[in-house]
Amino acid sequence: MSTTISLKEVSASAHEALNAFHREFERFANTSEAESVGGALNLEDGVAEQRALAEVRTKCLGKKSDLAGLKKMIGRVAPEERAQVGQLIQQLERTMTESLDQAEERFKSQLETLRIERESIDVTLPGRRPSRGHLHPITLLRERIEDIFVSLGYAIEDGREIETDFYNFDALNIPLNHPARAPQDTFYTTEGFALRSQTSTVQIHAMQRRGAPVRMIAPGRVFRRDTPDPTHNPMFYQVEGLCVDRGISMAHLKGTVAEFLRRMFGPATVTRFRPSYFPFTEPSAEFDFSCFKCGGSGCRICKNSGWIELGGSGMVHPNVLRVVGIDPEEFSGFAFGLGIDRMAALMYNIDDIRLLYQNDVRFLEQFS
Ligand SMILES: [Zn+2]
Repeated sequence: MSTTISLKEVSASAHEALNAFHREFERFANTSEAESVGGALNLEDGVAEQRALAEVRTKCLGKKSDLAGLKKMIGRVAPEERAQVGQLIQQLERTMTESLDQAEERFKSQLETLRIERESIDVTLPGRRPSRGHLHPITLLRERIEDIFVSLGYAIEDGREIETDFYNFDALNIPLNHPARAPQDTFYTTEGFALRSQTSTVQIHAMQRRGAPVRMIAPGRVFRRDTPDPTHNPMFYQVEGLCVDRGISMAHLKGTVAEFLRRMFGPATVTRFRPSYFPFTEPSAEFDFSCFKCGGSGCRICKNSGWIELGGSGMVHPNVLRVVGIDPEEFSGFAFGLGIDRMAALMYNIDDIRLLYQNDVRFLEQFS
């Protein structure tokens, strides 16, 4: 049999339990509504404090608490003192529970405020736009060129970058022994296939498919076995144009190229043609235009000549027409081609065309 416990003893234990509770609870007791949770300044600290408060509840009201110990004492108290002891313990439990409940309520509302502050969106602030990129300078220039020719009634044709010898050479009147077919000039892939060395290949496909008359430009990548330097790259962009119809003459070629350059560089632009040689045109000519910077008086861009060399052109060779089944007695045509990279380098004053392909954002973002 266990010994009887007096009211006085229970009272002393209850007092001790209350003191212990106050020591644990002290830091949570003093936070007012105006203060942040348990002195915490941010949500994370506040949540940690809330957890600490829950531990105090377990420690002071749980199964292993002093309070639980006191409740077990009731059975050992003399019957006449039981009611009083019961009230004492109830009072202690109520005091602790109320304090904890109040503090928890406070935590809940303060943490809610912190959460809302964190998640709130100030609709009066200007939004953060996702930064938008822009097209590559070569694409921008290509699109300008395309727009001009589309307005002149030309179609835009696309083609494959790996070509057979037939399309890259034979059909363009480049015979087997021609230097353009030498391995040091062309990237051969496997026997009979090469990376196209000019976009003229697209003209052959287009004429085969559409016949005559045809009016088209073919912008695209071409490949030559060049050692990269400030003015050469093994891969570059070309745009070639082709017009085949009845009665097409050199005058149409000159008029078209001159009109294109006027639209490109301004109405005062002057064009000149110099005799040249290409296997796929006869006669052939290279064309220059008056410097867009100095207007012809001479500057650094035109190397003081007043002229800028731009591309090659000529009347489509009868052999090329024959290859695609167009009768050169009935139809004639002109073709021209120019390098887009070179043109971009000139227009944007880029002294090294390799910069166009290095994908350096600091360089490219200048051309938006
Ligand atoms: Zn100039």
